[in-house]
Amino acid sequence: MPAVIAESDVSKWSDETGVRYHFPKQFKGALSEGMEVLYYKCRMKEKEFKNLRLSTKPHYFGVGRVVRIYADLDSTTGDLFADIEGFKPFEFAVPTKVDGQYFEPVPPTPKTNYWRSSVRKINQDVFDRVRSHAVLKEQPSLSSVSEDGAQEFETRITGIEGKKIAYYGVRYERNPKLRSRAIDIHGLRCNACNFDFEKAYGEHAKGFIHVHHVKPISEYEEDQVVDPATDMITLCANCHAVVHKKPQQLLSVEQLKGVLSGRWVFDDSTIGK
Ligand SMILES: [Zn+2]
Ligand SMILES: [Zn+2]
Repeated sequence: MPAVIAESDVSKWSDETGVRYHFPKQFKGALSEGMEVLYYKCRMKEKEFKNLRLSTKPHYFGVGRVVRIYADLDSTTGDLFADIEGFKPFEFAVPTKVDGQYFEPVPPTPKTNYWRSSVRKINQDVFDRVRSHAVLKEQPSLSSVSEDGAQEFETRITGIEGKKIAYYGVRYERNPKLRSRAIDIHGLRCNACNFDFEKAYGEHAKGFIHVHHVKPISEYEEDQVVDPATDMITLCANCHAVVHKKPQQLLSVEQLKGVLSGRWVFDDSTIGK
């Protein structure tokens, strides 16, 4: 059976939309591994969140699947985390009711308490109907990664380096300084396969490289300093994609070199022949 999970605009927990959901102990039995979930937001209470939501009204905004449930060790009241995979944000908000009919079967009394619940079990039919009203947001594809997009790619998968701020789950500040520092240190050649964009594609691709975070951003402590020398590395787009192929199993550069068989890059000697 699927469930609805409610996300607040303000969160003091280290949850992250589409990645990790924090919930109180009383809903322990309501979420289980493998369960499909609908992300929900209640009516907006503070205006400053307007641009961070799809609607100011109560709405559904994405789907995903629970892959792991575990205790929040920082919680003194037995709260839990659920890791989410396959999160797909909606392009537009799906309202809680269409044609005067709620998707969720709301108990007659007390109505207000029902919507306040963090986790609400629903049946497959409700899930499918909400899903059928949703347009899934286009995810950036690897083939369209631009110089800026290289950083986007990292963002999409692990978050961006930087300071954690205290609203809307976990957000990280974009930091182009760290990116260029990493390139200064690690160079413009791929550190796994030695691919050189300029050599392969000429002037048009000069200076292009992906900057990869060696450890997933979720493992960083709050306000921990990212050291471009040890925490970042430069990789070509192919190697970078392979490192992230399985989100739960990030490969190290050494592991990547181990699985890399066969050179597909140009040998210097073949250039110009
Ligand atoms: Zn490479
Ligand atoms: Zn990466």
